[in-house]
Amino acid sequence: HEAKRNGQSYMVFHPDMKKELYENIILENDLRHAIERNELVLYYQPQVNSHTGKIFGVEALIRWGHSEKGMISPEKFIPIAEESGLIVPIGKWVLEQACQQMKEWHNEGLPLIRVSVNLSLRQFFQDDLIDTVANALKTSGLDPKFLELEITESMTMNVDRTIIMLKKLKNLGVRIAIDDFGTGYSSLSYLHQFPIDQLKIDQSFIRNLQIDSQNEAIVETIISMAHHLRLELIAEGVETKDQMEFLHQFQCNGIQGFLISKPLPAEELAQLIKSSDSIKKVCSI
Ligand code: C2E
Ligand code: MG
Ligand code: MG
Ligand code: MG
Repeated sequence: HEAKRNGQSYMVFHPDMKKELYENIILENDLRHAIERNELVLYYQPQVNSHTGKIFGVEALIRWGHSEKGMISPEKFIPIAEESGLIVPIGKWVLEQACQQMKEWHNEGLPLIRVSVNLSLRQFFQDDLIDTVANALKTSGLDPKFLELEITESMTMNVDRTIIMLKKLKNLGVRIAIDDFGTGYSSLSYLHQFPIDQLKIDQSFIRNLQIDSQNEAIVETIISMAHHLRLELIAEGVETKDQMEFLHQFQCNGIQGFLISKPLPAEELAQLIKSSDSIKKVCSI
């Protein structure tokens, strides 16, 4: 959309771009008040071992219940939160809320599963991230081993800095996962230097299983690499039994996706865990 006239460049706004820009400014303004108005809520999606049919963790996924616009997807407002810096207070709220909820579930006698929280780029580069995580753990009383932080490959470009940051986080006793694995430029040669616990195979690879044989080869390679590096694995976006069977065959046992359950409000997730026979049925191969 950049045009040049007389050697000067200027931006040409398509009417749609103008509309989107305008909408985003409104959204950003509303987002400023979303926390205090209690409009943000965490949904939880189970992570299941396809061998045992047991839930071993949940991923916390944020939702914004906007007073007029209804539910807004994180795909839409996380980028706005990132750009405006609002991701810092929002990310802090997510960490606190997720730890508190999991501790409550443990107190209520639910199985001792863990909760995964997504970190954004800006959060990962925030100096006080360590304090924020430590505080969320301390305030909630959650044992750090039940908290997992998800970062993406794009955050690991500065290798030295990533190693320092991850070591500090690991010192708190939390787990680290690489989310959307395979989609970014991860420096494979550095992967083994990062103190990480888990890789999450991106859903784009899972979607194309049994459609594209080259894609299958990639998934097999990621699985075998994870096994060699002794990393735990989760396949994201598992929607069909065929996909689960394929993964099972290559010993990728951690699965997350609509086949098991979509992300659920806390109350419904707790019910699902209590009636976990239904999950065992889905997993029986
Ligand atoms: P993600 O961390 O990779 O989360 C997985 C996304 O895939 C979620 O979308 C989930 O609902 C969706 N999903 C799960 N299983 C399936 C499936 O079987 N099929 C399909 N088609 N989709 C599936 P969601 O909840 O809309 O979140 C989108 C992204 O927004 C997340 O991707 C994450 O990057 C970001 N996000 C969500 N919550 C937070 C948060 O609290 N903080 C930050 N920084 N980012 C968040
Ligand atoms: Mg994630
Ligand atoms: Mg992902
Ligand atoms: Mg994603």
